Amino acid sequence: MYNMFTMVTGLQNYNEQAIQAAKYIGQGFIITLDHMSRLPLTIQYPYEKLIPSERFRGRIHFEFDKCIACEVCVRVCPINLPVVDWELKKDVKKKKLKNYSIDFGVCIFCGNCVEYCPTNCLSMTEEYELSIYDRHDLNYDQIALGRLPITVIEDSTIITISSFAFFSKVSKGIVKTDSNLKNVTNFLD
Ligand code: SF4
Ligand code: SF4
Repeated sequence: MYNMFTMVTGLQNYNEQAIQAAKYIGQGFIITLDHMSRLPLTIQYPYEKLIPSERFRGRIHFEFDKCIACEVCVRVCPINLPVVDWELKKDVKKKKLKNYSIDFGVCIFCGNCVEYCPTNCLSMTEEYELSIYDRHDLNYDQIALGRLPITVIEDSTIITISSFAFFSKVSKGIVKTDSNLKNVTNFLD
């Protein structure tokens, strides 16, 4: 009799627990479904791009005419990366820059060289699409380094998204559900 009683109570407990668990799963499922009604926070690269921040450290730009071949950029670089090729002009007692190169396959984009260059001939651009099939092509000479950067906002073929607006909206959790166009551009309108 005692055994029978404990078995029934055990079964009852089991049922209660199962119902409770099912309830939790149901609640979780409803929340998951609720997420599906929100707009996805996705940037549709390469048709949409975030505008890099003002101090973004992309590809380095170099101005050959400004460089005095002081080699400060080499000394402050964690890996002594910039190659400054110069010769001494004995008649004028001055260094003359011959070649300058930075290998972006090795560069860690720390910006030390830009920070310490006394003549401001180095600057950081917002270019980050540097991928290439041959690693030797990443070794930029003064011509490649001197090319003016293409900014994201100048590219009329893509939609640009301000990262500030994007992240502030994300952090505030502003979510619209009344739209069929489910992309982030629409989300920012
Ligand atoms: S960004 Fe940093 S790692 Fe790259 S060349 Fe300049 S100092 Fe060296
Ligand atoms: S620190 Fe500036 S001026 Fe000096 S060698 Fe480097 S790029 Fe040229």
